[in-house]
Amino acid sequence: IDDIIQDKATKTISSSSNNYNQTYRGLGYEFFESMQQNKDKIAQYIAETGETDTYQSFLNRSIRTALHLKTRNLNKNDVVCLCSYNQKHNCIPLIACTFLGIPTASLDPSFTINDASHLIKLIKPKIFFIVPEVIDMITEAMQIAELDSEVVIYGDTEKFTSFNDFLAEHPEEDSFRPVIIDDLSETAIIFFSSGTTGLPKGICSNHRAIYHQGVIMNHLGILGNDAVVLLFSTLYWISALLTLTGCILKGSARLVCKEFDPIKTWYLLDKYKITYTFLAPIQAYRMLTIGRPDGIDTTSLNLVITGGAHFASEQLHKFRDLLPGTFVSQAYGCTELSGFGIAFNLTKTKDRLLLHYKPESCGRPIPGLQYKVVDPDSDNHCGFNERGELRIKSNCIMSGYYRQNSDTAFDGGGWLRTGDVVFYDENFCFYIVDRIKEMLKFRSWHVPPAALEMVLQAHPAIKQCSVIGIPDEVDGDLPLAVIVLNNNYTVTEEDIKEFVAERVNDTHKLRGGVKFLESLPVTPSGKVKKKEIRDLVLRGSI
Ligand code: AMP
Repeated sequence: IDDIIQDKATKTISSSSNNYNQTYRGLGYEFFESMQQNKDKIAQYIAETGETDTYQSFLNRSIRTALHLKTRNLNKNDVVCLCSYNQKHNCIPLIACTFLGIPTASLDPSFTINDASHLIKLIKPKIFFIVPEVIDMITEAMQIAELDSEVVIYGDTEKFTSFNDFLAEHPEEDSFRPVIIDDLSETAIIFFSSGTTGLPKGICSNHRAIYHQGVIMNHLGILGNDAVVLLFSTLYWISALLTLTGCILKGSARLVCKEFDPIKTWYLLDKYKITYTFLAPIQAYRMLTIGRPDGIDTTSLNLVITGGAHFASEQLHKFRDLLPGTFVSQAYGCTELSGFGIAFNLTKTKDRLLLHYKPESCGRPIPGLQYKVVDPDSDNHCGFNERGELRIKSNCIMSGYYRQNSDTAFDGGGWLRTGDVVFYDENFCFYIVDRIKEMLKFRSWHVPPAALEMVLQAHPAIKQCSVIGIPDEVDGDLPLAVIVLNNNYTVTEEDIKEFVAERVNDTHKLRGGVKFLESLPVTPSGKVKKKEIRDLVLRGSI
């Protein structure tokens, strides 16, 4: 019955089921074929307007957008940038670009000008598709990045190009065919994350990895027949692309919502007979805090997965109690993997009792990836119940960082360093217990300490600083700054917090506080010993 195998000598773990198709022709081609086959099915329900969108309409709009984009003469070395909340059209330029083999990258509309300018400097997009609400943010970020790209606005506009022009009829739309991608390790979509260290980087998700994840979603039984899927993430998040891919390949429907609201979510689950939803832990927590309203019917809801950050098992148990008959589980994923890394296989459910299922675990290995857990200091392989860094190897993961060296992401043997501390039990259930990479996650949002340290360094009183995370059961990591002051300066914790708050996104504020030290502990090569600082703070020694 068990499909997980472990090499006795190297302790490398993998799944023995490899029942996914590797011979395909690129993401755009597979999207196109599947949308054609599912023409009459619903692709999207739009919660804000009550509209429904068939795959026929979804496909037509994507083809027209692709044909109009062709006149811009872009190629696979150019990047198209999207910045939109979820709405009827936000996925259309992304799909159109996959038809043409042009990479896209998405920014979240909540970003500050600083966040956006850093990211667009990296990818230098040739064209932007944005909602009117972010015109100022994007145009100012473009100025900082010294870009003069075309801007397309969803809706009417006088100053910019309107997306309506991309939806206009095109004489070649009936004969349109998507490109075939010969090299599946070509970048299809660029995401942003800071990896194990430093500032955010572009993560190159390739055609093979994204398609593989879509297939894995079906392999794991996440999208049953006639699935209706609810997810709030914007396309900035890998979870949004994963869901879009899984749904298109299966011909399933997505419910498109502009923003998350805990009480509204309960009603949406009932109204749209949602079968699967993926929630960030903070969203599940907020639904839990509000409680389940009376009269809500969730009998269609087969599955809820939380992931992207730690969800305390006590909360998970409470959430399960609110959803009788629904399978509630955690899964582990990361952008570098283009989606899931560890998850439970729901096709093995029998009366919703999953073999090996443990609520505290985020699941078991999935096909197509190889796993090992190593002591990060000695590189020794860890066995059952021994804690170490999770490393993953596969040809279905990111191709590397966009136009940046990605050596730090992989170890000498080509294994991806996840920067996550895990252990696995005798059933190969994995448990995420800590993070050794620098990146923090506040309410699932990325908080790269390096970005906060750059802001702090601009303060005249600050000689040296280091940002670490204080674990919080609900919010994840609370960013905390440890500071060494220049001589003759007196500043308070509040001064520093305010200084930072005026310059960063709400999610980056120093909610963990500020601590002052005479000097920071450093290695002989001058690198700040973050772990030592974190231990000192957590022990209450500073
Ligand atoms: P991202 O770059 O947004 O894809 O974040 C990936 C990181 O989120 C992982 O490396 C983990 O640190 C964290 N993460 C993802 N899933 C879980 C989970 N189920 N439990 C704890 N941490 C998680």
